[in-house]
Amino acid sequence: MAKILIIEDEAKIARFLELELKHEGYEVMISGDGRSGLQNALQKDIDLIILDIMLPGLSGIEVCRRIRMESRVPIIMLTAKDDVMDKVAGLDMGADDYMTKPFAIEELLARIRVALNRKKQMTEAKIDILQIGDLKLNLTSHSAYYGNNELTLTKKEYELLEYMMRNKNIVLTREQLLNNVWDYEYLGDTNVVDVYIRYLRQKIDDKYNIHLITTVRGVGYIIKD
Ligand code: CA
Repeated sequence: MAKILIIEDEAKIARFLELELKHEGYEVMISGDGRSGLQNALQKDIDLIILDIMLPGLSGIEVCRRIRMESRVPIIMLTAKDDVMDKVAGLDMGADDYMTKPFAIEELLARIRVALNRKKQMTEAKIDILQIGDLKLNLTSHSAYYGNNELTLTKKEYELLEYMMRNKNIVLTREQLLNNVWDYEYLGDTNVVDVYIRYLRQKIDDKYNIHLITTVRGVGYIIKD
């Protein structure tokens, strides 16, 4: 069943939504402020977000903008009554839909179903984000992010990383990497793989102090989930 994140500081409303959504069979998670909401939106396996605009810490508009830098997860914004500016700003920032408080729960449920259906169709058409931990590849724009930071990778570094992430948890030999990531003229000289692995480690492992790429002595390299 779909998992819905509610980002709403008013506990009463959050609780009400939680009960209604659980009753419909959805899994529910609640964040009470913008910052933790953003974190949960980007890190957990969330299918849809209900996002209040008036939040402490980070406004709903800002949360929406930052989510959209990395994810196409459906977002339904909750706006105060008749605040046209908020609605416009929310939609400008990439929200899919909005509801004006106070709202009828049946209408919100209907909009959730529409947004989830649309998402399902999009997912079936194309998977555009590849993720391991905090490392994300946007396969459409060919960009890589660690958390909120964009990595500056060359084309070949990106291609190597994408190939290794697509084949995570598998030990890849240098020959395999050469054949799949490089042009044929490099055949026979596997040193280039080691050089590019070193580049990736400098830009990811060393920079963010993580252990992404493991050397398997005598065999090759692996990225574990
Ligand atoms: Ca609020």
